[in-house]
Amino acid sequence: MTAQFTRPAAIKLADHGERPLAEPQRLTVLGATGSIGESTLDLVGREPERFEIIALTAQCNVEKLARLAIAHRARLAVVGDETCYAELKQRLSGTGIETAAGEAALVDAASRPADCTMAAIVGAAGLRPTFAAARQGRRVALANKECLVSAGDVFLSEVRKAGAELLPVDSEHSAALQSLAGAERTAVERIVLTASGGPFRCWSLEQLKDARPEQALKHPNWAMGAKITIDSATLMNKGLELIEAYHLFPVGVDQLDAVVHPQSVVHCLVHYIDGSVIAQLGPPDMRTPIALALNWPERRTTPTAKLDLVKIGSLTFEPVDAVRFPGPSIAKDALRRGGSASAILNAANEIAVDAFLNANIGFLDISRIVRQTLEHAEARGLICATQSLDDVLSADREARALARTVIESLN
Ligand code: NDP
Repeated sequence: MTAQFTRPAAIKLADHGERPLAEPQRLTVLGATGSIGESTLDLVGREPERFEIIALTAQCNVEKLARLAIAHRARLAVVGDETCYAELKQRLSGTGIETAAGEAALVDAASRPADCTMAAIVGAAGLRPTFAAARQGRRVALANKECLVSAGDVFLSEVRKAGAELLPVDSEHSAALQSLAGAERTAVERIVLTASGGPFRCWSLEQLKDARPEQALKHPNWAMGAKITIDSATLMNKGLELIEAYHLFPVGVDQLDAVVHPQSVVHCLVHYIDGSVIAQLGPPDMRTPIALALNWPERRTTPTAKLDLVKIGSLTFEPVDAVRFPGPSIAKDALRRGGSASAILNAANEIAVDAFLNANIGFLDISRIVRQTLEHAEARGLICATQSLDDVLSADREARALARTVIESLN
C-alpha cells in the first residue's frame, strides 16, 4: 500500500502531511435537538477534542437539549419557548451551563463568538438567529434553507458585508459545491438537483387526494424532521432547494432543474458546455455533507455506510411530474417573480404543511394553497422588493395571514 502512494504519479493530489492538532473549533448548533442538530452532535461526539461547544439551542425539547448540553459540555443552552425556561434551568442546575430562553436569547446565542455555527433551526424562525451568526463574519454551515429561500439577496448581502463563509449543508448543494470545484462560470450549462420522489412517487392524482400525514411522514430514504419530510412528499422541498441553488451558485433560473432519482445516491449533476457531467454520489446520510461543511475543505472519516454501487445495482432517473407534484415549478415561478415572492411561497408552505399535519387540509391542498397565496399576494400588490430582514419578516407575516384566509376559503 505504502509503495503505491510513494511512487511518483503524473497527477498530484494535495498533501498537507500530518495536520497538527489545531485548537478546538468553537461550534454553536442552532436547532441542536432536531435531525440535523443530532447528526452534527453525533459527529462532534466522535471527535470531542476537536470541538468546543459554545451554545446549543432548541425550541421546547428541554429534556433532549439538557442531555445534549451536558454530554457535549456546552457553555450555554437556550430554549426559544420561554415557558420551558424553568424546566431547562432546573435540569441544568449545578452543571455550570448557562441557560436562557426566548427569541432574543436565541439571537444572543448565535452572536456569541464561534468559529462555526450550524444553522439548523427549521423554518423562518431560523432567520434572525442565522443572520446573527452570519454577522460574526465566521463560518455558517447552512441547513436552514429558509434564509436563502425567504431572504436570499438580503442574507447574502449580510454574509458578504461580514466576510462570513457560507457552506451549504443540504446534500444537493453540498454536492453542487463539490461538482463545481474549479469550474469557470461560463463553462457551466445546467445544475440538476435530484429528488427521491418521496413516499408518493408512484401514487396517482386520485390516490394523492386521500394521502394522510402518517403516510407522508414515511420517507423511503432519509430520516429528517417532520416539516422537510412533508416537503419531500410534495416535492416542494425540491422547489425550495432550486431557490437555494439560485442564490448559492452563479446560474440563472433556467439553468436549474430537478430530476427524480429514487435511490438518493446521486445528489446533484453539473452539466458543462463540453458535454461533461460531474456528479457527486454518497449514501443518503446527512452526516456526509455535515462533516464536509464543518471541516471544509478537509475531508474526515464519517461513520456513514459505505456506498456499494454493485449492491445497489442500478441508478434510475425520471422527470418530475408537474401535475402531481407542482412544487418545483411553483418555486421557479416565484423566483422569476422576484422580490418577496419566495418569502411568500415559503411562509404559505409552512402554514399549509402545518395545516396538513393537523389534518385540516388534504395533501393536494398544500401546493394549491401556496399557489393561491402567491396569486392573491400579486393581485394585492404585496410582492415587492425586500431590502432588509425586517422587510422579509413583514412579507412572511402578511403571507401567513393570507395563506390562512386561503385555507378558510377551502373549508
Ligand atoms: P427538525 O424539525 O428535526 O429540528 C428543528 C430544530 O429547530 C429543533 O432543534 C427544534 O427545537 C428547533 N426549532 C423548531 N422551531 C423553532 C423555533 N420557532 N425557534 C427556535 N428553534 C426552533 O428539523 P431538521 O433538522 O429536519 O431541519 C432543520 C433545517 O435543516 C430545516 O430548515 C430543513 O429544511 C433543513 N434541512 C434538513 C435536512 C434533514 O435531513 N433533516 C436536510 C437538508 C436541510 P425542538 O426540538 O425543541 O422543537
